[in-house]
This record gives sequence, structure tokens and C-alpha cells, in this order.
Amino acid sequence: MVMGQIGGVWRLPVKIHEFQAKQLLAHYGIAVPASGGVIADASEARAAAEAVGGRCVLKAQVHVGGRGKAGGIRVVANADEAEQAAGEMLGMLLRTRQAADGVRVSRLLVEEPLNIEQELYLGVVPDRTSQRNVIMLSMMGGMDIEAVADEHPDAIARVRVDPLLGLRPYQLRGLCGDAGVPREIAPAVATFAEQLYAAYYALDASLAEINPLAITRDGRVLAADAKLVVDDNALFRHPDLRALQDDAEEDPIEAEAHRRSVQYVRLGGDIGILGNGAGLVMATLDEVARAGGRPANFLDIGGGAKAELVRSALEIVLSDPNVRAVLFNVFGGITRGDEVARGIIESTRTLDIRVPVVVRLAGTRAAEGAEILRDTPLTFASGMAEAARKVVELAAAS
Ligand code: GDP
Ligand code: MN
Repeated sequence: MVMGQIGGVWRLPVKIHEFQAKQLLAHYGIAVPASGGVIADASEARAAAEAVGGRCVLKAQVHVGGRGKAGGIRVVANADEAEQAAGEMLGMLLRTRQAADGVRVSRLLVEEPLNIEQELYLGVVPDRTSQRNVIMLSMMGGMDIEAVADEHPDAIARVRVDPLLGLRPYQLRGLCGDAGVPREIAPAVATFAEQLYAAYYALDASLAEINPLAITRDGRVLAADAKLVVDDNALFRHPDLRALQDDAEEDPIEAEAHRRSVQYVRLGGDIGILGNGAGLVMATLDEVARAGGRPANFLDIGGGAKAELVRSALEIVLSDPNVRAVLFNVFGGITRGDEVARGIIESTRTLDIRVPVVVRLAGTRAAEGAEILRDTPLTFASGMAEAARKVVELAAAS
């Protein structure tokens, strides 16, 4: 969900599937629908459906939102229909607004269906501006919460939690009041918010979100959906959560990069980027975008880039089939320009490079580096803007 990203975009988060999030949240007292289990094969659907009484809801367990609108959630009347629906859903490519290329469905959560009367939104995220965790609550929950955030920001009530005083009862009452929660259900919603905040805090989450928080026709308040993202910096405190990390869905290039300890994030464009230092790489992405190009990735080769590391990093970048040109942007401090130049030349010998490569070197031994590159097919650039312009031109021509 995009709202969780109001304060910036998180990288390397530990994403937890809905069924896992619901299990975790249940430990904090949060009410969740009765579960018939998670199935990976249609033959298991019947038993799972019967476990919740036959009539059930089947939910694709994928790390993208908007499943409801994309056909990833189906309510069926009995075990026969559950088997049929599971057969159709397992293996399907789910295309949502958040995943235009589609995500393969390999598991389904089978749950008690809810007679939802009203859908609320409840979320907890860190707010960088106020340096507080903030709880958000809206009566306009459900599938269009992003539109609500854009069009009716006032419909989302917020409360910031003081890190020393913690969340206090009056704040919860204020939150429900501001959100316009009807009196009859306000105590239950307040308790729910208190429990979600406790879970978020204890789990070192960077996002805990219930959307929809369902109010059923018979007056129950339950988490119909649940999303948890745990800060990977806190994983050492939660070895059990690390085990949940599902890398089956992770981008295969990112997964390989992580195996090689290469700091790589795939961005979807066609210009491969390598640089030393996260700040420099970020600036390079901006420069390439300003020159009209679309970066394929973020890759920080770090300090003291040796030939073997450069080769390994370049191999990762080139394994993205969309890459049409590569830009190396290296500022020499500890990393020496001549060493980088040698590393690049070395890797161009051992790798089959079919795209143009632009190298920008500055700082320690940049001139020596440029000299080394002179008689190679590599394009040298001395300034960042010049390098970005050249790589965008070359990508367009290649
Ligand atoms: P998302 O679209 O990926 O965020 O998936 P959700 O779990 O939020 O479900 C989307 C929508 O399915 C909800 O907003 C509900 O309106 C709808 N829905 C209908 N019946 C049910 C039900 O019994 N259980 C759940 N969880 N959702 C239901
Ligand atoms: Mn949802």
C-alpha cells in the first residue's frame, strides 16, 4: 500500500505474507477470521474449505496489494466451488496496479468469509517529519484507500505517539473521534488500534496495516487483511521473522546480488548504473533521469573496488536483459581511479559485453584511469552531467 511510503521508500524490508501477518498479530490479541489453512494445490482446497464450514474466501498470498480488484480474492459458497476456484487461481499471473508484469500465485489462504458491513483503514508507520510513530485511522477503508489519501486527506485521522510516554488512552479516543467512528464500535476500534500499535512496536515493524478493518453485520471487528513490514535492521532480534522472509517472489537478479553481497536494487529502466558510495549512486540516478534516461538499477560497489568485485557487480547489472548501456561513476578517494579502470577493462575481457559502457572517473588517480581507458571501446567522461548525457545517447542508439 502506498500510504506506508508517505515518509519515503523503504529498501530491503522484510515482507511478510498476509497469513503470516495474521498469525503474528493474533498473538497480540488482534481478531482475525478463522483460517482453514494455506494451500498450494487445488486438491487441498476441499478440506481447507470444510474446516471453516464450506463457504469460504480464497486469497492469493502474494506481496502486492490490490488483489481484490485483480481476481486474487474469491468468495465461494461451498467446498466444491473452493476446489474449482483454487484450480483457477493457483498458477495464475496476478496483474495489479502495483505489479503490472504480474506475480505468479503459488499459495492461497482459505478463510472464513466475512459479512462486511463497513471497511475501515488502520495503519501504523514511522513519520519522519515528526520523528514519531503515527497511527492512521479512516472510516473510508477498503480497496480505494490510496484514492482517499489523495482526494480526501482529511478523512484519515492521525495520532503521533510520544516515544517516552507511549500511546495513551485519550489519544485512542481522540483518534476514533477524529475519524468519525460511530460510538457503538469506537471502544472495539480503539482496542484494535492499541493492539496493532503494540504489535508494530514489539515486532520492530516499519509498517503494520489492516485494510480493511472489517466491521461485520453481526458487529464483530476483525482484520480482514493484514500487512506487516519488518525493519531488516532489527532482524537480529527476531530470528523467527527472518525465517518468514519469502524470497521466492524476490527479483531473481536482486536475489543473486544479495548472495554475492552486492548492493543492488532493480529499478526497471534500461541504463545500468554502478558507482561507489550510495550517495554518489543516488546522485547518478538523478543525473541520468535529468538527461532523459531511465536507470535500470542502483548498484553501490563500495570503497576499494577491486577488479573481481567490479566484474561481479557488472555481471549482475548486465544480467538484466533491459540494460542497453552502462554508466560507471566512480569518485576516487580510497578507491583509486587506475584500479577501477583496470577492473573495468579486466571485466570487459572476461564478460561478454554487448552494450556501450561509459566511465566517469574523478578524484584519486582519475587521470591515470582515463589514460588506461584511452585505447578501449569504453567511453570516458570527466563530469557527471556529461557522463549521463553520453550514456543516455548511447542507450538510445544501441
Ligand atoms: P487487497 O485488495 O490485496 O488489499 O486484499 P484485501 O484482503 O484487502 O481484500 C480486498 C477486498 O475483498 C476487501 O476490501 C473486501 O471488500 C473484499 N472481501 C469480500 N469478502 C471478503 C471476505 O470475506 N474476507 C475478506 N478478507 N475480504 C473480503
Ligand atoms: Mn487490503
